Amino acid sequence: MAVGGDVPEPVSGAVFEHEAKALLREAGVPVPRGVVITEPARDFGAVAGLAEPVVLKAFGPGLVHKSESGAVRLGLRLAEVADAAGRMREALAARGITSSGFLVEEQAEAGVELIAGLVRDPGFGPVLLAGLGGVWAEALRDTALALCPVSEDDVRRMLASLRGSALLHGYRGGAGADVGAVVKLLMTLGGPGGLWERLELGEFEANPVIAAPSGVVAVDARYLPSASPPERVTGGGDGDFRRLFEPRSVAVVGASTTRPNFGNMFLEFYRAAGMPVVAVHPDAAEVAGVPAVRSLAEAGVDYALVAVPAERCADVVRQAAGVPYTQVMSGGFGEAGRPELEADLVEAARAAGTRLLGPNCMGVYCPRGRQTFTGGGLGPPGTVALISQSGGLAGEVIKVGERRGLAFSRVATVGNAADVTPAELLRWLSHDPGTRAVGLYLEDPREGRALYEALATTTLPVALLVGGRSAQGRRAAASHTGGLVGDGRIWRALAEQTGAALVGSQDDLIGVLSFFQAHGARPASGDGVLVIGPSGGASVLAADAFDQAGVRLEPLPGEALTDLRALGLGAGSTLANPLEVPVGPRSRPDLVRAAVAAILRRRPYRDVVAHVNVQSFFTYGTTAEPLLEYARALGGAQEELAGTRFTLVTRNGECAPAGVEDEVRRIAARAGVPVYRSMEAAAVAVAAARTLDRLATDGRASDGRASDGRASDGRASDGRASDGRSVGGRDFGRAGS
Ligand code: ADP
Ligand code: MG
Repeated sequence: MAVGGDVPEPVSGAVFEHEAKALLREAGVPVPRGVVITEPARDFGAVAGLAEPVVLKAFGPGLVHKSESGAVRLGLRLAEVADAAGRMREALAARGITSSGFLVEEQAEAGVELIAGLVRDPGFGPVLLAGLGGVWAEALRDTALALCPVSEDDVRRMLASLRGSALLHGYRGGAGADVGAVVKLLMTLGGPGGLWERLELGEFEANPVIAAPSGVVAVDARYLPSASPPERVTGGGDGDFRRLFEPRSVAVVGASTTRPNFGNMFLEFYRAAGMPVVAVHPDAAEVAGVPAVRSLAEAGVDYALVAVPAERCADVVRQAAGVPYTQVMSGGFGEAGRPELEADLVEAARAAGTRLLGPNCMGVYCPRGRQTFTGGGLGPPGTVALISQSGGLAGEVIKVGERRGLAFSRVATVGNAADVTPAELLRWLSHDPGTRAVGLYLEDPREGRALYEALATTTLPVALLVGGRSAQGRRAAASHTGGLVGDGRIWRALAEQTGAALVGSQDDLIGVLSFFQAHGARPASGDGVLVIGPSGGASVLAADAFDQAGVRLEPLPGEALTDLRALGLGAGSTLANPLEVPVGPRSRPDLVRAAVAAILRRRPYRDVVAHVNVQSFFTYGTTAEPLLEYARALGGAQEELAGTRFTLVTRNGECAPAGVEDEVRRIAARAGVPVYRSMEAAAVAVAAARTLDRLATDGRASDGRASDGRASDGRASDGRASDGRSVGGRDFGRAGS
C-alpha cells in the first residue's frame, strides 16, 4: 500500500485499517489497491495510479464503525476524491470525530459479503470465525467457528453449516463465489502456520470479505492486539499412569480413630476390594483395624489418598516423596476462591516428586487394579475408560453403566485438575492396551488447547459430555467478534473437528459408550441406517427420532422388494425404511433376521436398528420365551452379518416381568448388540457411530492396532503422523506451545 504524506501513529492498542490490511496482504490475502493520504489537497497526487471507481474511508482514533459515522464513500472518480475527503473531514469534525487521514482504495466488484475473523477464546485459544458478513453479520448472526489450527475439511464444514451457504454457490440467479478462494483465505487465517500464529490476539477481523466468481478480496480489516499476551499453556506432562490405576498398595491420610470420616470410608472400600492399605495417623498404631504409620514418608505405597482439611494438605503432600501418585480428596481450594492454597499444593507435590490428582476429587476406579472410590464392590473389568471433572457424576456413570452392561478399564476423577489434567490422561489412555473407548465429562476447558490436540490425535472413540456451558458463555469476550463466539458452539466445534461425539446428558454418555463398547472393534462397512420393527406410530416416530439426531434413513434398495415380498412382507403396508414387520409373540422370531439379510444382500447398510414393543409380547400373559427367542435371532443376525452394526430397542420395557429385560440385554450383549429402552437414546448412539467411522477415515481407527491392542505407530495414511501430531490434515506443530 502506497502512503502519501506522514501517517500518524494509531492510538495505543488499536491498529488502523490500512495496517491490518498490510498484514493480510503479506499473508497472501488479496486486499484492494489503495493509498493513505493525510492532507487531501496536498497529497492528492498519490491516488493517481488507482483504477476507478474508488472508495474513500476516513481513519482516526475514535473511528470504529466507519459507515455509521459517514466515514465511507463508495463509487468516486479520482477527480472527486480531494473534495469528498475535505467534506468528510468537516462532517466528521462537526460530530466531534477527528480524522487522522484517509484511505483511498479501488472498489471491488460486487459479490457475497463474508466475515472472517480470529479471536482468542479464554479457554481454547485462537478460534477462527466465518460467516455472512457486512450487515448480515449482526442481523443474522450466521457464523460458524473452529479451533485453530483448522484443516481444509473443517473450513468446508464451516461454510456448509451456514444457513446462507447457498449464496456462495449462486442462489436464484446470484453469481455465487469462488469457494476455493474463500477456503484458501480462511486457511491463511486459521490453518497451520496461519495468521493466528503470528498475531497477538486479541481479535482480527476482515469484514467484509467480498467473494465473487473471480476470487475474494478483503475490503475492510480490523486488528485489536491483546493488551496482555496470553498465558502460555504447557502441553502438560506425559506421565505413566499405570500405577495410578493399579497401585500395589495404598495409604489413606485423614482417617480418624474416633469420628469416622471420608478417610475411614475409603479404608473400608479398599479393604473390601482386597487392596493392601495402610493408614497414616500422627499417633495411632492402627485405625479401624488398619495398621497405621506416622507419615506418608514411611508408607512405602504407590498411591496416597489425602482427606484432611485443605489448609493441611500441602504439608501432608510434601511428605509424599517416593509415592508416585497422591490424590487430594479435600475441597476448599481454587473452586472455593482460594487459588493460593491450590498453588501451594501443586508446589508441594512438585517438591515431593509425586503426581497430584485433584484436589477436590473422588479418586480412581479400576476393577482390574482393585482401585475404587465407590462402595458395593468392584464391577467386571472392561475396556471403557472415563475421565470426569465430577466425582459424583463418575460414581453414577459407573454404577448405572455397569447395571446396563458397561465394563470399565479405568476411571479417573480429576476435580480441579491442578496437576494431572484430562488432556494428559487422554493421551496416556490412547496408548493403554486395555482401553477401547473413553467417556469425558468436563466442566471447563482447562488446558483447552492440549485437550483439542489430544482429542484430534487419539486413536480411541471419545464421548464428550460438557457441563456448565452456559456459565462459560458468560465469560466469553464482549467485543464484536468475541461477542459472536458462543461457548456452547466452541465445544461443538471441538467435537466436529476432532470427531468426538458430543452428548447432552449422562444417559446419552452411557448410551454412546455402550455403543462404542459393543461395536468399537467391529470392522463395519456400507453406509446408512436401516430401522426395522412393528408397524404403526412407533415406526413413524422412529423416523422422527433419527431425523432429530441428524441421521438419514436411506431408502430401501428396489432390488430387495421382491425378496421381502417372498417373505410375506408388504401385503398390508408399504415397504420402506423404517421397515414395518410383524414382531410379537405370534410372529416368526427370525423374520427380522431374514428380512435384514435379504436387504443387506442388495445394499450394505452400516447400521441396523431393530425395535420391539415389549408390552405386546406380554399382552396375553405369554411367557418371556418369544421375546428371548427374538433377541437370540437378532444376536444370530449380528454374528452372521458381522460387517453391519446391530442395535436393539426394547420399547415399553417396563411392561416386561422383572428380570426379563436383563435377560434380553444379556443375550444381546453376548452377540455384541447394544440395547436401548427408547428410540431417542438409540438414535443418539447410532449418530455417535460417526465417531467410529471418522477414526477409520482419518486413519486413526482401532483396527490400526496391533494384536496386543496397542495403537500402531503409523496413524495417518499420509505417513506424517507417526508422532501423533498431525491427523486429518491438521498440523499441531506449534499448537501446543
Ligand atoms: P465499516 O467500518 O463500516 O465496517 P467498511 O470498510 O467495511 O466500513 O465499509 C462499509 C461497506 O462498504 C462494506 O461493508 C462494503 O460493502 C463497502 N466497501 C468498503 N470498501 C470497499 C471496497 N474497497 N470495495 C467495495 N466495497 C467496499
Ligand atoms: Mg467493515
